[in-house]
This record gives sequence, structure tokens and C-alpha cells, in this order.
Amino acid sequence: SVVACAKFMIVGGGIAGVTCVEQLSSQIPSADIALITAGSHIKAVTNYKQVSKTLEEFDVEERPSSVLEARFPNLTVIHPAVKSLNTQSHTVETADGRVFGYEKLCICSGGRPKLLTQDNPYVLGIRDTDSAQAFQKQLSKAKRIVIVGNGGIALELVYEVEGCEVIWAVKDKAIGNTFFDAGAAQFLIPSLEADKPERAAPCRRPRYTTEEPAAGSGSALGPDWHEGIVLRGAETGFVARTHPLTVPFLFPFHALNFSSLPVGTWPVYILLTNGKTFGCDFVVSATGVVPNTEPFLHGNNFALADDAGLQVDDHMMTSEPDVYAAGDVCTACWEHSPLWQQMRLWTQARQMGWYAGRCMAAHVLSEPIELDFCFELFSHITKFFNYKVVLLGKFNAQGLGPNHELLVRCTKGQEYVKVVLSGGKMVGAVLIGETDLEETFENLMLNQMDLTQYGEELLNPNIDIEDYFD
Ligand code: FAD
Repeated sequence: SVVACAKFMIVGGGIAGVTCVEQLSSQIPSADIALITAGSHIKAVTNYKQVSKTLEEFDVEERPSSVLEARFPNLTVIHPAVKSLNTQSHTVETADGRVFGYEKLCICSGGRPKLLTQDNPYVLGIRDTDSAQAFQKQLSKAKRIVIVGNGGIALELVYEVEGCEVIWAVKDKAIGNTFFDAGAAQFLIPSLEADKPERAAPCRRPRYTTEEPAAGSGSALGPDWHEGIVLRGAETGFVARTHPLTVPFLFPFHALNFSSLPVGTWPVYILLTNGKTFGCDFVVSATGVVPNTEPFLHGNNFALADDAGLQVDDHMMTSEPDVYAAGDVCTACWEHSPLWQQMRLWTQARQMGWYAGRCMAAHVLSEPIELDFCFELFSHITKFFNYKVVLLGKFNAQGLGPNHELLVRCTKGQEYVKVVLSGGKMVGAVLIGETDLEETFENLMLNQMDLTQYGEELLNPNIDIEDYFD
């Protein structure tokens, strides 16, 4: 029997779910909202800053869920996790057997790390506070680890881990291919060899280090997830970081096998497709996430995307009536703006949660709603190897085929600027370092001005490009 029924129900206390709750509460303060989440802590966006029209920056903090209930009187936070969903009867069942009803549901259950192999104690995935702590514990005893993957997490790990030999296995030709082309990778590689700048220790705020690890599946970590966690191996006293410069190029793989070699001193061995075997203390699998959809699929008829996410339309609605989804669990299946793509990032989790909340409210109030402006232009601001990195639009010429032109400006150790042009218009950019070009380029992309006449002058450092286009 149904314990309680809420007008709005959100599943997942990550950034997408929490932002959705905040949005709904502000749009319809009188509506009762239930947030069902696995862990005891939720994610909160703090210090939100709109940097330009589409770029945003913020910090993320883990907080007890009671903090959210105190802020929103009409909100009830429910634990434990959702076990199953019945879209016909509009009910969910939690792991403790209770059944809750909803009018409108938003699934924000995030993703979990794709592991190279399941149930191997020497293969770790990093996803949440629990797994980051497990990683840290194992790292403190480690002499050599293998990092597999080429996305943001692998990049950060390779840079941050100290006192431990790192073997980095990458299947692509260049490092960081999720974010960069070979040119940008080349620019960044010297940072891996150089001495790192002194850290401003102690860290401003110990993030992601909860005293009692949240039970069950926690939320994904956000920017600065390694801050407050010391990533240091057993080899203290000297830094035994084999600089990974040559490693990715030497050891490409296409598929990996684990061989339990009977003789050897390492707990685990990894065999790469180039035939080389490495022993190590453990392997970090940083090869992306799989959307957390399982509890919701059985008995329902969700349309899934190729990447296994819940398909959502331009109102964040899944294929099931009254069920929305946002964040890492969903796949944006509307016709994208030519300058936007989905990436499972922090900012997009916030934007989708916010927009899903608006859509749910608009539908209840029978108001029209249009796709939000933030989905016009992909934009992401982050830090890699201690450089400010801004990515705009089709920054890696995604989906453009041969039909594009690149302009590059690079000052070693200082900045790397790449512009992607298509049909004379700017469609993407990678800005590494303090380039101060983000706003101008964002504008040029948004207004799709024909830049043919400017040619390479666009990146001439002696021209103040801002004056040009004012
Ligand atoms: P999550 O944050 O994963 O939250 C999902 C929530 O759902 C959790 O609260 C979980 O407990 C809950 N849940 C799951 N299943 C159930 C269930 N059955 N019932 C109830 N609740 C459930 N992005 C960036 O932009 N910049 C970065 O620097 C960056 N660094 C990262 C570093 C790491 C190590 C990782 C793992 C990710 C990083 N990301 C980064 C990606 C970013 O963290 C995610 O894109 C973002 O957190 C997704 O938010 P979400 O709300 O969709 O999901």
C-alpha cells in the first residue's frame, strides 16, 4: 500500500536532483516534494557565478540532507534507494519495501563507473566519496598503479598522484582526447614533467571527506574532488612518478585482459593489447560512466539511447508519461543546437536539473516552455594540470567531418588557443591559460558572424580582438 503521495518526486541527491528540487520549490512553493536518495548526504551548489552568457562556475559541497529539508518546508527526504518503479500506477518502491506515489517524477540517479572488470578487488573505479576514500587508502600503500582511461578523471589522476609510479594506459593517439586534440595534449604534456606549483595548503575546505561515509551509492564527485584528499603513494621522500609523457604513446590498448600470473611480486598484472604486461598494486579504471537506470527499467518501457541513458526530449521527458530525467542518467535526444553537445559534466547536471524543474512546474501549471538558452552553446570551464581551460561549442570539431578549418596560437608554458571555423564562422574553441578570450569568442559563436575577412588575424596577439568586434 502507498505510504504517501507527492506532487513532485525526485530520485537522486546529486547536483541534478538537488537543483531540480530547488527550482520546483521556488516555482511552486506550495507543492509537496519528495526527494528519494540513496546516501545520507546531498550535493549543494555554492558560490555560483555566471562568468559570461553561457559559462558558469561553482563549488560543490556535500551536506546532510536535513539541511535541504530545513530550507524547504514542503520537502521530505526519503531514504533508502529506489528499488523499483511502476510508471503505470505512478509509484516507486524503496529498498525497505515502502511504496510512494507521485504525480510527476524526475529520475536523477547519475551514473556509475564503467569498470574494466567486475568484482576484482584490485580494480577500482572512482565515482563518489566512498570510492575516492577507498582509492586513497590503497594509494597510500602503493608503489605502482596503472590508470586506464583518457577522460577528465584520468587526466587529473595522472597529474595529482605523487609518490607512486604511474603507468597510464590510453587507447587513443593523444592524451585527454575527450577534451583535447593532439596539439593541446602536446601543450599540456610538459606540465606532467615539471615540478608542480606549491599547493596552497591547507586546503580551503575539506571537500568530499565525510566522517562517516554515506551508505549505499553516493553522488558523483564534482570539480576539485581530489582537494582535501591526499593523493600520495607509499614512496614518500622522493617522487617516483614515472613521467607519463611517453607512456600513453607507448602502450596503446584496444582491449584489456587480466592475467593472474602465478609467479610475481605484484598483486595484479595487466596485459595490454600491444602484448606488454605490467604488474602493479592496483588498477584505476577511469573509462567513463554507465547511467544508473537499472532500478527503473523493469516492467516499464523506457526508450534508451545508445549510451544506455534514458532518452529525454526537449522538455526533459522520458518516453514514459509523467517521468522526467536529468543529469548523468539521461541522454539528450532532442535536435541539438549545432554548437551544443551533451557531456556528462557537473555544469550540465545543474542545467538539466534546473530546466527539468522548470518543465515539470510549467506542465503542472499548463504554461508553455521553450528549451533553455544554456543548451544553445556548449561551454565548460575547468582546470587541467593547473591551467585554466575553457571549452566552447564544437571545441574538437565534433561532428564536423573534414569540413572545417583550425587556427592555433600557442605560447609554450603559457597559453594554447585553438579556434574551429566552419563556413567562415566560429563554431568552437579551446582556450588554455589566461587568454581572456572566452567572452569575445562566445559572442562570435552565438551571433555566428562571418569571419572570413579576418582570416588568421583573428588570433594575432597584437590585435585587441575585443575592440574589433565591439
Ligand atoms: P550524481 O552526482 O551521480 O548523483 C546521483 C544521485 O542519485 C546520488 O545522490 C545517488 O546516491 C543517487 N541514486 C543513485 N541511484 C539511486 C536509487 N536507485 N535510488 C535513490 N537514489 C539513487 N564534472 C565536471 O564538470 N567537472 C569535474 O571536474 C568533474 N570531475 C569529476 C571527477 C570524478 C571523480 C567523477 C566521478 C566525476 C566528475 N565529474 C566532473 C562529473 C560530474 O561529477 C557528474 O557529471 C555529475 O555529478 C552528475 O550529477 P548527477 O546529479 O546527474 O548525478
